[in-house]
Amino acid sequence: MTSSAVFAGLAPRLKSQYNAALKAGSLHFTDSDEVELEDEATGIPFEVRYAPALAKKPTANKDSGSTASTADDSKPVDPFAPPYQQDLLVAEETVKEDDDDAGEGFVVLLNKFCVTPRHFLLVTKDFRKQTTPVSPLETFTAWSILKQLGSREKHLAFFNCGDESGASQPHKHLQFIPISTGMAPFDSYIDAHKPAKPQQPFQLPLPYANFTALIDPPSSASRSDLVAYLGQRFLELLDLMIDHRRRLSLSDPAALGLDAPTRGMRLSELSYNVVMTQQYLHLVPRRREKYTARASSDVDGGGEGAPGRTVSVNALGFAGMVLVKDEATLEVVKRVGVLEVLKEVGLPPLEFSDPQHAEDVGELA
Ligand code: AMP
Repeated sequence: MTSSAVFAGLAPRLKSQYNAALKAGSLHFTDSDEVELEDEATGIPFEVRYAPALAKKPTANKDSGSTASTADDSKPVDPFAPPYQQDLLVAEETVKEDDDDAGEGFVVLLNKFCVTPRHFLLVTKDFRKQTTPVSPLETFTAWSILKQLGSREKHLAFFNCGDESGASQPHKHLQFIPISTGMAPFDSYIDAHKPAKPQQPFQLPLPYANFTALIDPPSSASRSDLVAYLGQRFLELLDLMIDHRRRLSLSDPAALGLDAPTRGMRLSELSYNVVMTQQYLHLVPRRREKYTARASSDVDGGGEGAPGRTVSVNALGFAGMVLVKDEATLEVVKRVGVLEVLKEVGLPPLEFSDPQHAEDVGELA
């Protein structure tokens, strides 16, 4: 029935299943220390997690843990395909836009390798490529989960798309983590820069390209209205990213890692991250996956540095949460600042002729 809540009763199930899976050793939680690094210029309270135990983990298949292969040893196993590991399976549901819709099957799985307790994934039941944009129904399903869980504990959803985005699995999945403080690092900054016209997507004044759309659907919206509304909000951001890339590919191809101006672009080859809360969608196009520390002289006027140290950044970085695996890298991040790390892995921001409207992307339209 399209009138009932999507994934009803998810919160208590997540909690009990997480505790049981942890106890049974079916999922691996890695403890970390959290350091808050408030950016002086923007006031954004970045969170850097330091998890030295991760440095010891094999990284052959990124962090999938699915280094196993199929019988013919030619194709890596898809960890998000059935049969599901029962301890990690929280719920399955076919979500329909309306009663006439065949719907799309989704599965909620606990993240097998988590740094945040109760980190979980919303996975498409049938194989869909991670390189396809989040569909209106997927956006709606994710938002409905955020809304439902938010009545007990705020959560944040994120999506890594493309080779340079920090994604490791090709099977479509969105991820969710609880925000124990009730405030994600970017919440206040987004609130402080929202445009006068709330329907207008906007760019936050940051050293990398970024696009935000506020989510404020009419309270009377039906489910199909919500699917359309949320799908539209996501498409607006995607559109702005494509437009920005097109401009850069002609004016500054090097910023995209291109040797020469080009007009061609495949949607499936673009890397970007999406962060979603109940209140906003935030999209950041990516240039590269990893930040690499330059020579110490570049970093801090010759102070003690760690050239060559890398920080792998996924959507959580653009939600203000960065993960490092060793102390030397933590020191680099402290020294250069999180915004510098994010700038290096993002694209140059949109430029505006009128600084008065620097945050209002709509002025470009
Ligand atoms: P990404 O690296 O962004 O593609 O996200 C994939 C996530 O799936 C990672 O956070 C992994 O820890 C998680 N993961 C990998 N293998 C499994 C598995 N078999 N079951 C559940 N989660 C997994």
